[in-house]
Amino acid sequence: MDTIQNYRCPCCTAPLVFGAETQTLVCESCGNSFPLETVQQFAEGNEAAGGISKYDWESYTPRSFEAEGELNLAGYSCPSCGAEISGDETLGSTVCPYCGQATVVKGQFEGGLRPDYIIPFQVDKKAAVAAFEAEFKNAPFLPDEFKVKKKIEEMSGVYVPFWMFDCNCDAAVSYNAQRVTAWSDANYNYTKTDYFRLFRAGSVGFANIPVDGSKKADDAYMEAVEPFDYSAAVEFSPAFLSGYLADKYDVSAEESIERANERVKNSTIAAFSDTTGCYNVVIPESERVSFSGGKIRYSLLPVWMLNIKYANTIYKFAINGQTGKVVGEFPVDNKKKWKYFAKIAGIGYAVAAVIAFLLLH
Ligand SMILES: [Zn+2]
Ligand SMILES: [Zn+2]
Repeated sequence: MDTIQNYRCPCCTAPLVFGAETQTLVCESCGNSFPLETVQQFAEGNEAAGGISKYDWESYTPRSFEAEGELNLAGYSCPSCGAEISGDETLGSTVCPYCGQATVVKGQFEGGLRPDYIIPFQVDKKAAVAAFEAEFKNAPFLPDEFKVKKKIEEMSGVYVPFWMFDCNCDAAVSYNAQRVTAWSDANYNYTKTDYFRLFRAGSVGFANIPVDGSKKADDAYMEAVEPFDYSAAVEFSPAFLSGYLADKYDVSAEESIERANERVKNSTIAAFSDTTGCYNVVIPESERVSFSGGKIRYSLLPVWMLNIKYANTIYKFAINGQTGKVVGEFPVDNKKKWKYFAKIAGIGYAVAAVIAFLLLH
């Protein structure tokens, strides 16, 4: 019965003693007593939830990538923002997809990492232009610069590098919870608060958690352009790059792990929290989230990028090359806006004048 001495009171953490009379564990400090089984479960739950989280990703072994077969790749660099991209040699002069300002300089193709997977473009330029045009139909007082077809057609199809993370996550979380019941009789209002200790443990599988591997690609835009349908991902072949640009990753797998861990942890804890809905107050106390053998894969995902300059600002748009989803904000042309309101006000004035005229006669 030595181990019992190690048990602590769930209410006040004082040591518990075994009461022979009641056959329960008794707290001499706060006077509560507990069945042995309850205290054991409590201790086990605490231990599980209080352990140290471990995120173990298998190390990623890079495979070098040379231009293969019939496809001749050229390297391009942007003198303005420093983006380094590659594309097939036939692309000719190209506008930088990231900053839109400069004409990129063609140079030597330099091999980077060979991607594991690629989601090929399913939305071609014509369809991407149409998606953009459909989007701006809803934008009020859009400056004319955004409607110039020739400008819109300058959009470039870029394969953006992403790190994809897979793992099976084991987790345990403990919570302090309360359930409050209230009732009244003729004389009094009553409030009863029940206190609970909750433990949740289980595993959650994750597949294809994407983290973009490009510093040039705006994280917010890249997350907004999601989701991609990963079932359409195929093994990488350089042939898919024909007619498109491809960005080289400049955020390594190791540097992306932090963000992947964060996404895994938050999603797991959110999934567990979904099961605690029947309490009024739930406060997470400790959590342990662990996995081993997590897999990292390098993938290229298709995005159309368009930059339009207006009033000294570059407006950036991204279009999902698989679904046609358009991301970006359209500015408002103030001149157009005032003209419109002046016209409305003018009509209002005319109507008021007619009513006044009718009233007078
Ligand atoms: Zn106690
Ligand atoms: Zn640039």
